[in-house]
Amino acid sequence: MKLADRFSRLGTETAFAVADESRKLAQTGLRIFPFHIGDMDLKTPPNIIEATTRTMRDGKTGYCSNWGIPELREAVAADINRSHGTGYTEANVAIQPGGKPVIHKFILSFMNPGDEVLYPSPGYPIYESAIAFHGGRPVPYSYEETPQGFALNVQDIEKRITPATRLLIFNNLQNPTGAEASPEELAAIAELAIRHDLTVLCDEAYFDIRYEGESLSLATLPGMEERCLILYTFSKKYAMTGWRLGAAVGPTGMVDAIAKLNVNDESCTNHFVQYGGLEALTGPQDGAKQIIEVLRRRRNRCHELASGIPGMTCHRPNATFYLFPNVTRIMRAMKIDDYEKFRRTILEATGVSFCTRMHFGKPLPQENERYIRLSYSGIDVQNIEEGLGKLKDYLS
Ligand code: PLP
Repeated sequence: MKLADRFSRLGTETAFAVADESRKLAQTGLRIFPFHIGDMDLKTPPNIIEATTRTMRDGKTGYCSNWGIPELREAVAADINRSHGTGYTEANVAIQPGGKPVIHKFILSFMNPGDEVLYPSPGYPIYESAIAFHGGRPVPYSYEETPQGFALNVQDIEKRITPATRLLIFNNLQNPTGAEASPEELAAIAELAIRHDLTVLCDEAYFDIRYEGESLSLATLPGMEERCLILYTFSKKYAMTGWRLGAAVGPTGMVDAIAKLNVNDESCTNHFVQYGGLEALTGPQDGAKQIIEVLRRRRNRCHELASGIPGMTCHRPNATFYLFPNVTRIMRAMKIDDYEKFRRTILEATGVSFCTRMHFGKPLPQENERYIRLSYSGIDVQNIEEGLGKLKDYLS
């Protein structure tokens, strides 16, 4: 067997390797505190499950349109219009088997081989993988830590733009940093995108995972709607990660291209699951509210305890389910420079399992500080308390 050359450029989500390693260690009897998980341990609200099984029994088990069922496309457009103040219709929505497929489809539709694509690092690792796999040149941009949290350096992003730059991937409410752009930062990014004629993927996977304040979208700034494709997902806000349901939302020309890839790739998104999505958006919202309340309690406790660990500094994002503590002083004190060695040493000694900055793209040359990601979507408050207590004892 000989794999195609492009396979050597395909990355992966190395966080899955951390999950495997933790599972193996758990089999040896070590109690694991799973802060590495990007998945959720919360249940999908029962009304969604009920609506899905009902439609399955009713025979919605054949193919449907490659665009998705019209009712769900309308409901997604209405949901986005409510939170974004936009005027999308069904024609602007192509239902997808999850949010992740929107990343590949966006790259396939709008990037030619050799084009340069700006993407965040640290960031969701699939961006870099998809760009490189399809023959583009991944150009990372970074976040800077400020006393208020993680901020974009728009001048630095602009320096990375060349005549070959075509696309910008932007993940406001960011995995892994929890970063959230201010209105001024958004305006500066929009100005940049318009001036350099960039097509933008707005990854809004965490748009509704919000505890305080209001989520803002780059797509709503003047002149941006026509150049932005929004990645929308049911995964997080309804605890539906394994259902695989999301959408690509944007100008009709863009969405037409995405839906054409659906015909070629999967024919259609799972038919009856789309009725679950419809119930999620049009039925009672108590389940989604409860999910946010559980996550809020976890965030508060996790942040409080992480901030009390000597040498660790930690911002408290208003959205996402991640903390991204700075561990530079701890690593220095332990005389460990290697992220993997640091992660493993702590995992084996305490059972506390987390991802480090290395799981979110290659560090940029100017990066001196060291970070880990604590995810609280798969660990309850009691385990957060015990795990971070053990970590504090160990590091003290
Ligand atoms: N974008 C970001 C930033 C994510 O963190 C994730 C999942 O963790 C996704 C997209 C994709 O999520 P899904 O495919 O479950 O919708």
